[in-house]
Amino acid sequence: MVSIFVWWIGEGEVDHELMEHVRVHLAAAFGRPVFLWESPERPRHAYDEKRKQWRTTPILSWLGEAGPGAGKVLAVTDADLFIPILTYVFGEAQLGGSAAVVSLKRLAEPAGGRALLVDRLAKEAVHEVGHAFGLVHCGQEHCVMSRSPAVREVDAKGKDLCSECRIHLDELAGGA
Ligand SMILES: [Zn+2]
Ligand SMILES: [Zn+2]
Repeated sequence: MVSIFVWWIGEGEVDHELMEHVRVHLAAAFGRPVFLWESPERPRHAYDEKRKQWRTTPILSWLGEAGPGAGKVLAVTDADLFIPILTYVFGEAQLGGSAAVVSLKRLAEPAGGRALLVDRLAKEAVHEVGHAFGLVHCGQEHCVMSRSPAVREVDAKGKDLCSECRIHLDELAGGA
């Protein structure tokens, strides 16, 4: 069975409680072992001096080289992420690949207290890892795989995969 690794790659100090929450939520959503991974390495080459943001594509390929080298790896950061065609992204993943990244940065506004921030991060973590398992966007509004371009949509959707996405996940991943 494919394991999932969660790795803090942010600039600030790791928030152990937050990472543990993400770990537990991923384990519940995917029914797979989820481990915390730690290493001081950071994908500095992904920083764009002009935009003062971090580009996700080089982060994802770097995770494949610098990470645990097995299973799926979800990087969590406090850095502002982007892809060239968008102002920012909450996260990105290699569809059906091994790497995903999610950022706290844009999930913090509008502020609603720590519990809400933790909730938002858990949802986006499941969403991006879902992509890494090959799941695409879902039309069910409550499903965690529904598109959420803004925090409003993140807050409106649920934390779990809908029954269709769950079936699709089993087909994609099988026993793996
Ligand atoms: Zn998505
Ligand atoms: Zn769904």
